Formats: sequence, structure tokens, C-alpha cells
Amino acid sequence: MFKPIAIDGAFGEGGGQILRTSLALSLVTGRPLRIQRIRAGRPRPGLRKQHLAAVKAAAAVGRASVSGASLGSCELEFHPGGCYPGDYQFDVGSAGSCGLVLQTVLPALITAVRPSRLLLSGGTHNPFAPPFHFLAKVLLPLLNRMGPQVRAELLQWGFYPAGGGRMAVDITPAPRLEPVDLTARGNLIRGHVRAFVAGLPRHIAERECRTVGSAAGGRFETEVVELPAAAGPGNVVMAEVESANVSELFSAFGRRGVAAEAVARELADQVHAYLEADAPVGPYLADQLLIPFGLAGKGVYRTLPPTRHTDTNAAVVQQFLEVTLSLRQVAEKIWEIEAG
Ligand code: AMP
Repeated sequence: MFKPIAIDGAFGEGGGQILRTSLALSLVTGRPLRIQRIRAGRPRPGLRKQHLAAVKAAAAVGRASVSGASLGSCELEFHPGGCYPGDYQFDVGSAGSCGLVLQTVLPALITAVRPSRLLLSGGTHNPFAPPFHFLAKVLLPLLNRMGPQVRAELLQWGFYPAGGGRMAVDITPAPRLEPVDLTARGNLIRGHVRAFVAGLPRHIAERECRTVGSAAGGRFETEVVELPAAAGPGNVVMAEVESANVSELFSAFGRRGVAAEAVARELADQVHAYLEADAPVGPYLADQLLIPFGLAGKGVYRTLPPTRHTDTNAAVVQQFLEVTLSLRQVAEKIWEIEAG
């Protein structure tokens, strides 16, 4: 029996990602995990519904024995019994993010011995989590370049806090991930801004498009999309930035008491920072690429200054995998992250 890897959930960024990364890599490596002080850095520490859903999903895929998997628990022990690809339905409950549950099981399933199909229900477009469109247009195409073939389909929109969304994910694994080099973004091919409203007035989306469109100096196409009211209430504005070597996607969510113009400016600021830095990988993608690059054991990408999520995730990945992830600044606003 392996001794469990001991993870301090309070380390660095101190949020849910330490838990998800640890579960993901426990599944991939078969190493048991003991995590303490879960989400100690958050106002309501311990496992919330959303995190419990990730633990349950990982336990199902790993046929794991688990202790401490209850609401509010700050300690968890997880002993995977292997990795079992197949058909799974994960109900994230409330409006918990489907994308974050996917983050937990995807590394094991893309390197498994057989294909899988996942049906996830919950939130498909949540603030502070990867929205469906980020997964479908940015993360999964990059994973596909590394060998596996993963396809996601949005079956029903689910905004936070109403939830009720559904997505399907088909995974054809690869025995090992091939390294990729993402150091140059290449020329901008297309910028596409889409503002979605569900059960909210159309003018919100129109104002968002106007604001982002003019901030981008007319270089981006804009589009207003009215979703069925049942999917809402909800509003998100997303900008897809397609360059020769990579696509990125940024998003901002409408919320009560914040003007549509202010939401749009949040998005415009993210896009501006990305375009100005001339790096292919944005700040969210940067933390999410650490696991696949760690699994490939080699590869390099350039990104904006690392977030605390990225720093923390790099440390957790190196606790599980025999890989060195080095982060170094190469220009005023550009960092290079190399696995080796
Ligand atoms: P945590 O805050 O620990 O729950 O982790 C949040 C995760 O969601 C990280 O992997 C972030 O990169 C990811 N994330 C948060 N916001 C976005 C966004 N707007 N687009 C893509 N990914 C996001």
C-alpha cells in the first residue's frame, strides 16, 4: 500500500483548486491522498456542495474509498481503487459548476484505457469557473492537440444561481500525452464578442456589445443572443480571441447592481491585457494547462504574469508527478512555464 500523499489545503491560494488537482492526480497516479485544512483560505472553509460533487465524481471514476466526504468537512482521505473509464452521470446539484467537476476527472479519463461519456448537470456558465464555451473552444482543443479526443456538447444552459444546465462530454483517451509548444500566439485572425441574456432585457446584451466593441476599436464582431427565459435569469458576455496558433476566451457575468457597461469593461480589460502581453495563454488557461503539461512531462507555454492559482497548482502538481514545472519571467508582461 502506498502511503497517502499529504496535502495542505491552506497552502498558497487555499481554495477548491488544490482539492480538485489533488483528486485528479490521485486518480491518475493511483496514489492515495490525505488533504487537511480544505479551503482554509475561503470565508466558508471546508467542502461545499460543489466540492462534494467533485469528490463524488472522482470516487465514482476511481471506485475509491473515501472518508470525510461531508458538507463542511475540512479533511478528506481518498484511496482510489484504479481508474474506471465508462459512462457516468454527475449531478453537480444546486448551480455548482459542471466545468469544475469535469476538471477533476478529465486528467484520468483522457489517459485511461477506454473511452468515456459524461453527462454533467448543474451550472454551465458560472462566475469564477470555466464556462462551457471556454472548455469547448479553448481547453479541449488544446488537450486534443496532445493526443486525446474530447468533445463537449452544451445540451442546456444553466446560469448561476438557477442552475439546471446540462453538458455531455465524449472522451477518447490517448495512452500518453504528447508535449506541445505554445510560445507564440501568431496573428490575430478574429475577435468575436457574444452577449447572452436569458430572461433579462435584450438591451443589457446590446449595451455590453457596444461597450466591448468600441473598446476593441471596432476590430471585433459583436452579436446579441437571446436565450429561452427558462435558462435564466442570466447574462454573460464572452470574447473569443482567435489567433493563428491558439484560441482564448474571456468572459464576464452580469449581476444585480452592476451596470451592463461595467460588466463589459471587465471583459474589455481582460481582452486588452491579453492582447497587449502578446502571449498565447491567458491567466485562467495557464493554471489549467499545468496538469496536462505535467502529465506530458515536457512542453512549454507563454502566459501573462502567473496568478496565485497558477503558482499553487504548479506546487501541487509537483507533489504528485515527477516533473519540474519552472516559471520564469521572459519580458515585462510575459512569463514562460516549462515542464521538464
Ligand atoms: P477555485 O477558485 O480554486 O475554485 O478555482 C477556479 C478554477 O476556475 C481555476 O482553474 C480557474 O482557472 C478557473 N476559472 C475561473 N474563472 C474562469 C474564467 N472566466 N474562464 C476560464 N476559467 C476560469
